[in-house]
Amino acid sequence: MAIELINLEHTFSEGTPFEHKALDKISLTIDTGNFIGLIGHTGSGKSTLIQHINGLIKPTGGTVVVDDLDLSHKDTKMAQIRRRVGLVFQYPEYQLFEETIEKDIAFGPTNLGFDKEEVSKRVVEAMESVGLDYNEYKDKSPFDLSGGQMRRVAIAGVIAMKPDVLILDEPTAGLDPRGRDEILEEIQTMHDKFKMTVILVSHSMEDIAKYADKIIVMYKGKVEFYDSPSSIFKESERLIEIGLAVPQVTELMKKLKAVDPLVDEGIFTVEAA
Ligand code: ADP
Repeated sequence: MAIELINLEHTFSEGTPFEHKALDKISLTIDTGNFIGLIGHTGSGKSTLIQHINGLIKPTGGTVVVDDLDLSHKDTKMAQIRRRVGLVFQYPEYQLFEETIEKDIAFGPTNLGFDKEEVSKRVVEAMESVGLDYNEYKDKSPFDLSGGQMRRVAIAGVIAMKPDVLILDEPTAGLDPRGRDEILEEIQTMHDKFKMTVILVSHSMEDIAKYADKIIVMYKGKVEFYDSPSSIFKESERLIEIGLAVPQVTELMKKLKAVDPLVDEGIFTVEAA
């Protein structure tokens, strides 16, 4: 499902002393089935952008179109958007609320109006996708799980709605390195299996460079770069300027280039500052 942003703008508190332009004339197309990494310093506009792609925020200028649905149109209903675009918020485990894992994951597809049989099928499939055994976990309380497992339940709740576009806001935040790698691998597997378009928001170049077809780099409400990971790594000096890489990487790169001028910048994965 192609996503098209045309001159997208968002100004918070327009016309007041607190007026703030969070998104400034963003135009880009995300092709169906792509795995997109979205990176930028805190406050660069990542959250505001993804909330436009799932209709939670309406633009103050420009348009957001997902396939044939104009999300920015005043008559477009949230229910229409929900079927297409799923958003996993930061720390989604705080939004779990049902007594059992099965009920929690069933909530979304039930609300979309699917019958019991279809909902059950989706719950089993979604749990398997995030590595939770259905029979072992279905009757447990989500609150008896570890943080990483709770997060899996929350992600499964969105997967069970079978969105064409899955957006995840910092899905690895607060997890240990092992938990982080496991979740990212599961997201990659789901992307391949369900042929979903994935937008993964992250602070970590390392995390997204490994999985993304293309990376959107945001800076002060604008898109600074939108390209393949290898092309973006060639911009290491600018990445450092906008707070997205540790300076040592450039220093090290200079030293390596002195030895071998053809050394490929892509050998580095840089972590956000
Ligand atoms: P990021 O997700 O990259 O950290 P955000 O999209 O949350 O960035 O924020 C972009 C800018 O918009 C920031 O300067 C932030 O303070 C501002 N902002 C975000 N939400 C609101 C809001 N509800 N009201 C006013 N300003 C906001």
